Amino acid sequence: KQGQDRDKDKSDRATAELVLDQRTRMILLQMINRGLVSEIHGAISTGKEANVYGAVLYPDNPDADEPIQRAIKIYKTAILVFKDRERYIAGEHRFKAGSDKGNNRKMVKLWAEKEFRNLRRLHAAGIACPEPLMLKLHVLVMEFLGDKRGYAYPRLRDARLAGDDVDDQWHHLYVQLLGIMRRLYQVCNLVHADLSEYNILYHDKQLYIIDVSQSVEHDHPHSLEFLRMDIKNVGDFFRRQGVDTLQDRTIFNFITAPEGPVEEPALSQAIEHLYEIRPAVAETDEAAAALEVDNEVFRNQYIPQTLDEVYDIEKDADKKVDELVYKHMLADRTVVEEKEEDAGSSDEGSDEGAALSGDDESDVDES
Ligand code: ADP
Ligand code: MG
Repeated sequence: KQGQDRDKDKSDRATAELVLDQRTRMILLQMINRGLVSEIHGAISTGKEANVYGAVLYPDNPDADEPIQRAIKIYKTAILVFKDRERYIAGEHRFKAGSDKGNNRKMVKLWAEKEFRNLRRLHAAGIACPEPLMLKLHVLVMEFLGDKRGYAYPRLRDARLAGDDVDDQWHHLYVQLLGIMRRLYQVCNLVHADLSEYNILYHDKQLYIIDVSQSVEHDHPHSLEFLRMDIKNVGDFFRRQGVDTLQDRTIFNFITAPEGPVEEPALSQAIEHLYEIRPAVAETDEAAAALEVDNEVFRNQYIPQTLDEVYDIEKDADKKVDELVYKHMLADRTVVEEKEEDAGSSDEGSDEGAALSGDDESDVDES
């Protein structure tokens, strides 16, 4: 490799390793000891807020069973990168930028918890996503979306469809995604809020939703604004693939209408029906321009009235499973119940009981 490349590799590695402070390494060790993973591999992704690592769990009986691939998302606690996230949380003033390390860490833990919790909702609702397996502070272990050799599925952005019906495939993926968005909204009570070709993985005609730490419930004051943004991003991407997309307004109504299907194949059928009943394609430039204006107006009409409306993320985090609307879907077989067997630990006990583990910050010392 050329010098520059090598230097970049080195710095990438250094960056990747930076996040593994003493506390994080202790958590990973715990996860190894508890049999969640046997080995942790290199970074699949290094982001601003989190790194994602590949990991492998070797089976007890290697003759009979194959190794299981897993993914570990580690939120960065060291760097303050949550400024642009302020819109997603509330009580922002309580987590002012530049605040002390403790608050920062608390914040990161909240983000990890939110992701874990939201993934569980998606998974319980049968939306394709990584199954969440365990959470400890800012470290989240989940199902690996990829092949047996440890290659992750591509992001939708990088997906290369093949065959002589590629246009058809793109159309079906678009329809599939609109169905997922409605199901997410109606069944999980969530708006993704960062939905784009970067946070969707693709494999074998199936879309997988990832990166849901910023997803919000309907009662978030900006939720409909986020939904509109999601719809726009999705539309922009699929139009670039040559898909004949529906109007943003039509999609918005489809996703938010309380009446209607929430399951396939009825979801897809309902969307195909929207194509059938839509007004004829604008024939003149003027008509097309008017449609575009209508789209713009729609995109801008839900600007929230009061910007200081505050969404209390802590309140949300404190909600007990009992209070969640879809608790029956959350019957939790997936989470490793955490018993603090480690010496010197003092678990303060999570509100979610077995669901969220490891609220205890005192058992791992930071160097
Ligand atoms: P970020 O907050 O950094 O955007 P993401 O959750 O989007 O984090 O993950 C970053 C990347 O890591 C994704 O684009 C995807 O390529 C990869 N990734 C994340 N989760 C998984 C998973 N469960 N299985 C395989 N790859 C994953
Ligand atoms: Mg992402």
